[in-house]
Amino acid sequence: MNPTIKHVVQRGETLFQIAKKYGLTVNVLLAANPSIKNPSLIMPGQVINIPRAIKTIVVPQESYGYDEMMSDLDALSKLYPFIKVSTIGKTVAGRSVPAVQIGNGKKEVHYNGSFHANEWITTLLLMKFLEVYAKAYQGGRYIGYFNMKNLFERTSLWIVPMVNPDGVELVQNSIQPTDPFYDAVMRINRGSSDFRGWKANLRGVDLNDQFPARWEVEVARRAGTAPAPHDYPGPSPLSEPESRAMANFTRSHNFRLAIAFHTQGEEIYWGYRGLEPAESLYIAQRFVEVSGYQSIQYVQSDAGYKDWFIQEWRRPGFTVECGRGTNPLPVGQFWDIWGKVIGIFLVGLDV
Ligand SMILES: [Zn+2]
Repeated sequence: MNPTIKHVVQRGETLFQIAKKYGLTVNVLLAANPSIKNPSLIMPGQVINIPRAIKTIVVPQESYGYDEMMSDLDALSKLYPFIKVSTIGKTVAGRSVPAVQIGNGKKEVHYNGSFHANEWITTLLLMKFLEVYAKAYQGGRYIGYFNMKNLFERTSLWIVPMVNPDGVELVQNSIQPTDPFYDAVMRINRGSSDFRGWKANLRGVDLNDQFPARWEVEVARRAGTAPAPHDYPGPSPLSEPESRAMANFTRSHNFRLAIAFHTQGEEIYWGYRGLEPAESLYIAQRFVEVSGYQSIQYVQSDAGYKDWFIQEWRRPGFTVECGRGTNPLPVGQFWDIWGKVIGIFLVGLDV
């Protein structure tokens, strides 16, 4: 299946203009229209094939927030009808948190991004992977040595590309005085409208410190008792709608493996208090081989999503810290990070 749409050439229109209109190049149009012998000789009324599947939807950009993600999800699910978008819950500000399914196999796998607001480049990475996967599957192509049709039929990948949309919006677009959360948020941020250091949700709770895996130990470690831009575990486990949505979503599936994508550090965390299965070591080693990242079994931390996933299911759960530098990582790092994590995206489906 390679859906094309038809474009009727208007008076004065050039092939270059048509290509640009659909986000394509002239060469791609020529390949889809072998009857055109001379690209500068097209006639009004002539019908041109527009190969829709080649169009690029997810574009790395300096500000890739909730609206960009939602509009790309809409465009991707129209272009690739086998992509299924659903909602797992609502944020503090009432935004829907989307989940995307690609693949229809029995084995369920889960990836998520942007638990932490200023780590939003992970959303872009997951969205790009969704597009690249869909395109390869539709075209019957491999990515590297991975047969995508085969992975599609064996695996159902469930992606939550942005766990914390309210936080991401805060980091990218700040907050308007007319916003009902303005006063509370400004108080938490100590009057500053610079939100680059913000990881939490809109109520100043760190969503990756919210899960019932020795949450009390994490509270004692953090010593913070009030809402903050980061590291406040909240008044109780799963007190926040976003972390609750993630817990319910995870419980309603049977994930064989889960990966939470964060930035930064180029590290792969794969253990939790000895509860991880033996195969986690082997999978982490494969991730290291394809990414060049460093694998770390234990870290002084509890109550994270990965910790809870390992504790509840005794299955392989990972936190992958992409990239290096200061969060939010500049989008200029996108393709460098992409080259390292694409192998993790693929191997995660294959184990
Ligand atoms: Zn993080």
